[in-house]
Amino acid sequence: MKFIDEYRDSRLARGLANRIAQRSTRKITLMEFCGGHTHAILKHGIRQMVPEAVEMRSGPGCPVCVTATADLDKAIALSRLPDVIIATFGDMMRVPGSYSSLQQSKAAGADIRVVYSTMDALELAKANYGRPVIFVGIGFETTAPTIAAAILAARREGIKNFYVLSLGKLTPPVMKALLDADGLRLDGIVCPGHVSVIIGSRPYEFIARDYRVACVISGFEPLDILLSIDKLVEQIEHDRPAVEIAYARGVKPAGNEKAREIMENVFEVADARWRGIGTIPASGLKIRTEYERFDADKAFPVGPEQPLREPEGCRCGDVIRGSAKPVECNLFGKACTPETPVGPCMVSGEGACAAYHQYGLPENLQTL
Ligand code: SF4
Repeated sequence: MKFIDEYRDSRLARGLANRIAQRSTRKITLMEFCGGHTHAILKHGIRQMVPEAVEMRSGPGCPVCVTATADLDKAIALSRLPDVIIATFGDMMRVPGSYSSLQQSKAAGADIRVVYSTMDALELAKANYGRPVIFVGIGFETTAPTIAAAILAARREGIKNFYVLSLGKLTPPVMKALLDADGLRLDGIVCPGHVSVIIGSRPYEFIARDYRVACVISGFEPLDILLSIDKLVEQIEHDRPAVEIAYARGVKPAGNEKAREIMENVFEVADARWRGIGTIPASGLKIRTEYERFDADKAFPVGPEQPLREPEGCRCGDVIRGSAKPVECNLFGKACTPETPVGPCMVSGEGACAAYHQYGLPENLQTL
């Protein structure tokens, strides 16, 4: 298939892997920020193709995984309000909150619908006039412009029963938080492709300049990722950290200014809670006062019904921070499987635990 096969060419992949092996002279640690990259790396056996000296760690780039339990509990509490319809992405349904999940709340009678986009949620509001429809707005800079566009459309069309629980998060601040934290020492980051389509390459420049950590923005096909690893190893070996784009067909240095304008029109930057990391200053998106009538937080202030409780034994926080691999969790593949997930990293299609579980099985590997 054009635009896919050419990025999965096994001869080119082996050539890149050889070049990485030739360049690599010392042990380094790279983080692939994005859950989509983790899945591609495991699915195509890229960890086995690069030298052992190149250690790959998963990062926090999975919106479902980084949603704090307290925020999930809030969504569950909202679902119990009379007449409310919750609209959410499917992956959120099975994530365990402190005492329940959206799926369990639905089984108990709450009206919770799975949608594929914010615009679907807006359509749901139009079709259910008189009932509040609350969209659970998770996601990074990739999703935020679409949520903002839905709020703008709701205002334009005078839709009064559409609300957003704004849980949007920003990528550069969490990268900074990880680099400032004790523990994991990173040499390079495979930066997210889809987020960078929106924000461009410039917001990562502080990482190379202030932390001397190499950054390469990558696409999601195997050759994209191998090329990014090759560029990272080259930067690290020459001690010349910089921000490079290895996904030029999707990312421009300035990103998508129009999308950012829409996002910035509706949202302002605010502190945000991250699972496993805590509150990070200026790392989230809050609906501006001008649009507050769409803000579920303002329209339906619900407090915690019971004390916060994290899943016992789950190391999602460590996995999200890159300080543990999923297989280092005692529950991995035993008490915690895709059928019986204990934490969000096993539920989400972008979760690292789900990827390790799925592609740890040789029959699921698609080696190049
Ligand atoms: Fe949490 Fe399950 Fe992953 Fe362990 S394997 S960190 S319990 S999601």
